[in-house]
Order: sequence, then structure tokens, then C-alpha cells
Amino acid sequence: MAKENKKLIVGNWKMNLNMHEASLYLHKLSGLVKTHRTVDVVLAPTMLTLQSLSLQVNYRQFKLAAQDLYWRDHGAFTGEVSASQLRGVVQYAIVGHSERRHIFHESDKDTRNKVQAAIRNGISPILCIGETAAERAMNETIHVLHDQLVGGLANVTSEELNEITIAYEPVWAIGTGNNATSEDVRVVEKAIRSQIRHLYGKTAAETVRILYGGSVNKDNAADYLTIPGIDGFLIGGASLDATVFSDIIEKAHKAASAVMK
Ligand code: PEP
Repeated sequence: MAKENKKLIVGNWKMNLNMHEASLYLHKLSGLVKTHRTVDVVLAPTMLTLQSLSLQVNYRQFKLAAQDLYWRDHGAFTGEVSASQLRGVVQYAIVGHSERRHIFHESDKDTRNKVQAAIRNGISPILCIGETAAERAMNETIHVLHDQLVGGLANVTSEELNEITIAYEPVWAIGTGNNATSEDVRVVEKAIRSQIRHLYGKTAAETVRILYGGSVNKDNAADYLTIPGIDGFLIGGASLDATVFSDIIEKAHKAASAVMK
């Protein structure tokens, strides 16, 4: 659906792999993944390993993402890393991941500030939204996603929206093995595009990039790739296995090539 029908596959390594392990992993993955013009592959290692991987990575094969960032550019914010410090090292940043929202209690306002900081510093935000199991049980999914979208995108212009990717990640599906059905994802994808249409108009609704994330693996990936409006994945656990991750990338390539024919 989005730009040129390209797929985007993002591997979120979370708090896994030290510098040595990350370097070995990247070496292995480079040997397995073919570079396709149909798929952009983005790796999100920990902050600690970003700098060294940025020197090792072949940017034609992979791009790098920060798993988070702080929205102030500099100052007395112990332990934080700003978008201005990440500028030039990463091309993307994950913002509003459910673990940031639920474990670290980040609000839509924090998320919005981070989206703004990323854009200000030439980094493309991957804005994560998703409902909890309780919200889903109360039929509040579309409501919650609407609030998170409006909250995260406030102050983003239509031009800036081109830089943003939205990742639908139901909280109950992350790291649980309980992935959403393709019908769930299809319904939500349509709802997100409809909300974007209200906010930014028809063209933006058709072109904004939407990913699915939540227990994606090599067996269920192909199903989501048949949904025309799903532009790829944000993958946690399965991205830590180079063979599985490269297999999913190959599936995305096949799906994108089939559409381009
Ligand atoms: C994630 O970390 O965003 C994620 C979707 O994890 P997993 O694929 O393990 O569910």
C-alpha cells in the first residue's frame, strides 16, 4: 500500500545481545539476507551496540534503528540518549513501544515529543500503537488506537507524516506466542487508514506505512503479507534467530514482488 509497495521488516532485539554477540549476529545475518529493492530491513539493537554496529553494517543491506530516544536534544537527563546524539547513526527510531508505555509509564505526550524530536533530527519514527488484552475484551481497540494515533501525531504535518511508519502491536500479542489473526489485523489496518484520512486526507491514508507486530514468526508471516495494506513487520523474538529472520525477509520479498508483477 505504501510507497512503491516496498515492505519494511524491523528487528527489535530489545535488551539482548552484547557487543560481541551483536557483531557476530550481524555477520551471520549479512551472509543470509539478500539485498532486494522490494524490502527495507531495519535492525534495532540496544543503544550500547548501535555505535559499533554502525561501523560494521552495510547500509545498502540494512538500516539501523534506536529502540527509543529522549526528546530533549541535550541537558541534565541522566541515562538518556537524545535524537540529536543518534542523528547520523540511525535512520529510524522506535517510539511508543508497548514496553515503554506499560513498563516505563510513557504517556502519549512523551511519545509525541519523541516523534517530534526524531523528525527534527532527520530520523524516521516508527510509532507503535496497540491495545491491551483488557481494552480488547471491552471492545475498546479502535478507540485506544485512535487516542494513541492522535496523541502521537499531534503537531505532525502532512509532509512529516511521509517519514512516519505506524506499527500496530497489540500488547497481548507481544512476546506471548498469541499472535493476532489476519482478520484482526485487516480490521485494524483499515481503521488506522480511516483515522489517518480524517486527520490528513485520502493520499496520506493510502500511502502511510503500517506494520504489524506481535509474535510474528516464519510460520505465520505469510498470512499477514497477503493483506494489501500491511507493509511489513516489527519483530521481536523471531528477529534474534538469523535464519528465521532472513526467512521472513525472503517471504516479504516474494509477497512484494508478486504485487509488483
Ligand atoms: C516487539 O518487540 O515489538 C514484538 C513484536 O515482539 P515479538 O515479535 O517477540 O512479539
